[in-house]
Amino acid sequence: MLLAEEPMNTVNYLRISLLDRCNFRCSYCMPSGSEIDYLHRSEILSYEELLGLIKEVFLPLGIDRFRLTGGEPLLRRGVVGFVKALCGLPGVQDVSLTTNGFLLSELADDLYRAGLRRINISLDSLDPTVFEQITGRKHWQKVWEGIQAAHRVGFDPLKLNVVVLPGVNDHEVPDLAALTINRNWHIRFIEFMPIGNSDYFAEKGWVDSETLRGRIRERFGLGSGECYGNGPADIFQIPGAKGTLGFISQMSECFCERCNRVRLSADGWLRPCLLNESDQIDLKTSLRSGASALILRQQVQKLLGEKADIHFKDRERGVAGSYGRTMSQIGG
Ligand code: SAM
Ligand code: SF4
Repeated sequence: MLLAEEPMNTVNYLRISLLDRCNFRCSYCMPSGSEIDYLHRSEILSYEELLGLIKEVFLPLGIDRFRLTGGEPLLRRGVVGFVKALCGLPGVQDVSLTTNGFLLSELADDLYRAGLRRINISLDSLDPTVFEQITGRKHWQKVWEGIQAAHRVGFDPLKLNVVVLPGVNDHEVPDLAALTINRNWHIRFIEFMPIGNSDYFAEKGWVDSETLRGRIRERFGLGSGECYGNGPADIFQIPGAKGTLGFISQMSECFCERCNRVRLSADGWLRPCLLNESDQIDLKTSLRSGASALILRQQVQKLLGEKADIHFKDRERGVAGSYGRTMSQIGG
């Protein structure tokens, strides 16, 4: 009997996009110039539908770690109540959230009280002008205040995500890394991927993590660090620093063998891999047409069993899936 068996793989982590909308326009994430087609509210899975899927489908299949993302998840009305309900579900081992930080000064306290402990905040620059150039918004100060609020409230680990863009913010990498010296913060440098804004990618290119580590090593020294969380980051530490440095190197490295995750878009498409759009399944349509929990579990278990290793290099060989959606639409 299929469902009585252990899942055939080690996927235990689901990234859930709460909505595809965002109040920022990061150059690496969204195509410039053209308007994005946002989902209609009725197309977005309701909180009840999400909790039902988590309880009846994902938890029974061993997926017990969840990250809320988007778009900008904190823009969704009722997000604090949803976090509370999710954190309170029996069997849930871990809940985290990725945000651009814009609403954190208002929401950090409520999110913490709701049970959230782990948060990632995107901060691509320490310079408000560069920040505006990247995000299209003059909100550096507000985001910085949000980060301070998260720190004060006690989020631990508190991680800052930095997408490194050559000629734009790569010169700031050592200064960003220096934030970890006196703070128990974790900075994660992410290689720019050709998803979302491929024209900009073609124009800018990307910097590999080893080059960044070289620059940090030259200024501060660098040792390998203790590993936090369950992700694809390679962890390092400036000697004596309180925090750590993570490098997510999906362009220069293949970490498929460490991959423990699948992604659910706001409109209910379950995607086996960031780079695989063709094998995703439409859970929302199944759910709304009355499929039983058993059928839904079978569909998800099939997807987990067939989750293939795909790397960007496969795309060059024409093997990988297509990228019709931006990171904000997929749930980055
Ligand atoms: N709005 C939230 C935020 O910005 O943190 C959550 C959603 S955002 C899509 C999640 C993560 O995806 C962010 O850390 C962002 O930097 C990253 N991201 C988006 N587009 C990317 C790209 N083309 N290459 C690498 N990382 C990207
Ligand atoms: Fe919005 Fe996050 Fe994409 Fe920036 S990276 S545009 S904040 S979804």
